[in-house]
Amino acid sequence: MKIPFLDLKSQYDQISEEINDAVNNVIKRQSFVLGEALDRFETGFAKFLGVRYVCGVNSGTDGLILSLKALGIGRGDEVITTALSFIATTLAITEVGATPVFVDIDPNTYQIDVNEIENKINKKTKAMVPVHLYGAPCEIEKIVKIANKYGLKVIEDACQAHGTSYHNKKAGTFGDIGVFSFYPGKNLGAYGDGGAICTNDSSIYERIMMIRNYGQTIKYHHETLGTNSRLDEVQAAVLSVKLRYLNQWNSTRRKIANKYNRGLMGCKTQAINAESESCYHIFVMETEFRDELACYLDGKGIQTLIHYPIPIHLQNCYKYLGYKESSFPNAEKVTKKILSLPIYSELKVPNIEYIIDSINGFNGSR
Ligand SMILES: *Cc1c(COP(=O)(O)O)cnc(C)c1O
Repeated sequence: MKIPFLDLKSQYDQISEEINDAVNNVIKRQSFVLGEALDRFETGFAKFLGVRYVCGVNSGTDGLILSLKALGIGRGDEVITTALSFIATTLAITEVGATPVFVDIDPNTYQIDVNEIENKINKKTKAMVPVHLYGAPCEIEKIVKIANKYGLKVIEDACQAHGTSYHNKKAGTFGDIGVFSFYPGKNLGAYGDGGAICTNDSSIYERIMMIRNYGQTIKYHHETLGTNSRLDEVQAAVLSVKLRYLNQWNSTRRKIANKYNRGLMGCKTQAINAESESCYHIFVMETEFRDELACYLDGKGIQTLIHYPIPIHLQNCYKYLGYKESSFPNAEKVTKKILSLPIYSELKVPNIEYIIDSINGFNGSR
C-alpha cells in the first residue's frame, strides 16, 4: 500500500476534460495576461467569498506584500502575527521593511492566542496578520474587535483557508484584506503559482490593482511605485474550473477529518473553534512519539509531513530579531509533537481506515 500525502494526479483525472478545454481556450485566444479568464475568475471567487472585490496576483506571498504596501505599512512599523505559520506570513512583513511581532499560540487550536495580542500593541503597531492555520478559522471576530479598538489594520492570511467559515462568513472577509494562495497543493490550487486578495474597500482594491500592474491604471502612466504581480490567464482558467468543485472537495475533507477524529483513539487532534467550519487544508494530530510514528507510518507506505518543524521566531533568517528558545513555549512545544496526515477528497475509505488502524496499532516507545 502506498498512500501519498497529496494526490493531484487523481484530482486531475476527474476533471481533465474541463481543464484541458479551459487551458486550450486560453491558448487559442493567445491572450495570457489580464484577460477575460482572470476577469471571470475574480468575479467568481468574489461571489464565492461573498465579498465585493477580488484581485488576482502572482502568489500568496505577493498578495501579503501588496496588501501591506497598499495599507502604507513599512519601515518603523510593527505588525502582529503568530509564531506558528508557514514562513511566508512573516516574510511579507519583513519584505516591506516592517517588524514582525510574534504572539504565542493556543495549544489546542494552534491559532494565535487572542488573549496575548493586546500585550504586544504599542505606538508602532500598525496592523495584524492573523493566519487561519491548517484551514481552521482563528478567532477572527475577536481580532477585528481588538484592531478596531486600537485603530489597526487586519490582513487575514487565508492562504490555507479557501472556503473556511466562521459564523457562516468566509475566512478572508472579516478584516480589511484577505489573502489567498493558489499554490498547487492548496485546497484551491492552480497549475503553477498564483494568489489573490479580497476586500470590500474600493480604495484598497484600486491601489492593489495599480500596484500589481506597474503602478498604472492607464498604460505608461505610472501613478505609484508598483510591480509586476498578476495571476495569469492559464492559472485563472484552471482555477475557475476547480472553483466549481471546491465546496464538494472541502465537504469530503470534512468527512475524512470526522473519520480521523472518531477513529484515532486517545489522540489529540486540532481543536476547531465552535460555530465554524474548517476546510481542513491540513489534518494535524499530536503525539509524544512524533518522529517514531512518522517513521513507522512511512514503513507502512503512509506519507506524513510536519507543519511546521520550527516555529518562525526560531528560524535562522529571523535570528536578528533576537528571540530565543522559550520565547513562545506553546508554539515550541507543539512543533515537536505535531504530525500532518493525508487528507484530500480522492483519499479512499479503505485507505483512511488503513491509516487509522496503523496509527492505533503503533506502540511507539510506550
Ligand atoms: C501557502 C501559504 C502562503 C504563501 O503562499 P504562496 O502562494 O506559496 O506564496 C502564505 N501563508 C500561508 C499560511 C500559506 O500556507
